[in-house]
Amino acid sequence: MNTKQLDSYRKLLNDQLASLGDAAQLHQKQLDESHTTSDFVGGDRAAELENMEVDSSVAESEINLTKKIQHALERINNGTYGTCEGCQGEIPAARLEAKPSVSLCLPCQEKHEAGAV
Ligand SMILES: [Zn+2]
Repeated sequence: MNTKQLDSYRKLLNDQLASLGDAAQLHQKQLDESHTTSDFVGGDRAAELENMEVDSSVAESEINLTKKIQHALERINNGTYGTCEGCQGEIPAARLEAKPSVSLCLPCQEKHEAGAV
């Protein structure tokens, strides 16, 4: 992979990271607002807890994605970006373009998801 390609992936990853930052801030704002509302109207405690559960899993996947993106950026810096962490093969460019934060090729990803890795 040449420097120009690495630069374009770095830009994609940084853009994703920036939009995740926005989402996390919006998420926090919504939490703050839902608190204020429940104080006013008394709030349905069970429904509130249910919402919080959904919210925390959303936040968790955002955190996981943030970590993946930061990991991909580190791999760009140390020159291993585009190499599968499972089989050390090359990750196809189409896969990186669709999802620049991936660190496994598709066969390895499938094995990983099946719990075989
Ligand atoms: Zn692989």
